[in-house]
Amino acid sequence: MTSSTVFSALAPYGWDEAWADQFAPYDSEGLLPGRVVRVDRGQCDVVTADGVVRADTAFVTPHDPRRVVCTGDWVAVEPGGHPRYVRTCLPRRTAFVRSTSSKRSEGQILAANVDHAIVAVSLATELDLGRVERFLALAWESGAQPLVVLTKADLVPDPVALSYLVQDVETAAPGVPVLTVSALHGEGLDVLVALVSGGTSVLLGQSGAGKSTLANALVGEDVMDVQATRDMDGKGRHTTTTRNLLALPGGGVLIDTPGLRGVGLWDAGSGVGQVFSEIEELAQRCRFHDCAHDSEPGCAVLAAVDSGELPVRRLESYRKLTRENQWIVAKTDARLRAELRRDWKRKGAEGKAAMEFKRGRWS
Ligand code: GDP
Ligand code: ZN
Repeated sequence: MTSSTVFSALAPYGWDEAWADQFAPYDSEGLLPGRVVRVDRGQCDVVTADGVVRADTAFVTPHDPRRVVCTGDWVAVEPGGHPRYVRTCLPRRTAFVRSTSSKRSEGQILAANVDHAIVAVSLATELDLGRVERFLALAWESGAQPLVVLTKADLVPDPVALSYLVQDVETAAPGVPVLTVSALHGEGLDVLVALVSGGTSVLLGQSGAGKSTLANALVGEDVMDVQATRDMDGKGRHTTTTRNLLALPGGGVLIDTPGLRGVGLWDAGSGVGQVFSEIEELAQRCRFHDCAHDSEPGCAVLAAVDSGELPVRRLESYRKLTRENQWIVAKTDARLRAELRRDWKRKGAEGKAAMEFKRGRWS
């Protein structure tokens, strides 16, 4: 395959001279360059100059979860074979990592090689600058350039009021472009289309912020319809595949994954920790580092409740918020859900064992 064929096929997905240079050694091995449009249990869909191919990631799935192939990665895939393997993953320019609250796991990569992080903020509700800052921190952390899009601008018809809102956000977001957009009337969309045309973007923001509406506007039709492309699998059957990475008609690429959508909520976990800082401090003195402050022996939090130092209402409220937060994320993330279920089971078993121990059954 000539490099110009590769260029014309992959440029819409973000292929450039620098990627081509990095790929050169694999090219001479006869491997195909491609970008991961979706990952799913040890396999991934890769868009190549030959179309979308399904490939096995066993070669490139080391123990470090940060190095697992993810949507947005540029990879070298074998030209054929059953299964066909991803042989290597090119070094990432940027990466969105979901930090996990569990100290055992290193964090999970949600998207790679993202240039612009679009933080959608609805003008339909009162501005929460603290929340905007949290999303911006997340964006900067990834290495991508953040961009704030104030959505539903049609709901603030007064231009003076609108400019004050923009100024408020600008002061909370130094170095970050702030746009206003109305998907309803199409206002401001041309500016957004132009800004995202130069790279790969992700949409962040609270549920209801208008992310799906923006995605649909950028893609030019219903994303869900676009995503449900019919592909042939290896056995000649038609299967419906979902892409989490789409080339935009106006140029640029959009990555939209369920994991990324939940990221703001997950991140709220550290916010919960700040609101209940005295409990987090007490928890440092619990015997077990992953103490759930339920029935564990040596729990400093329960001891503080017993001694009257910590109101029980406060502990209950903390538990409720942490659980809600985990549940919201777990809904969007099957792997995390399985992990949580294992955790709950283990904690349940440990708690029971501890109680039996206390009752003296094992002595
Ligand atoms: P998401 O949860 O962030 O994906 O948000 P959605 O895109 O689903 O939008 C949430 C709600 O806001 C929906 O009811 C949309 O119809 C509405 N919405 C989105 N964009 C606009 C807009 O530009 N103007 C108005 N008035 N409503 C909008
Ligand atoms: Zn405890």
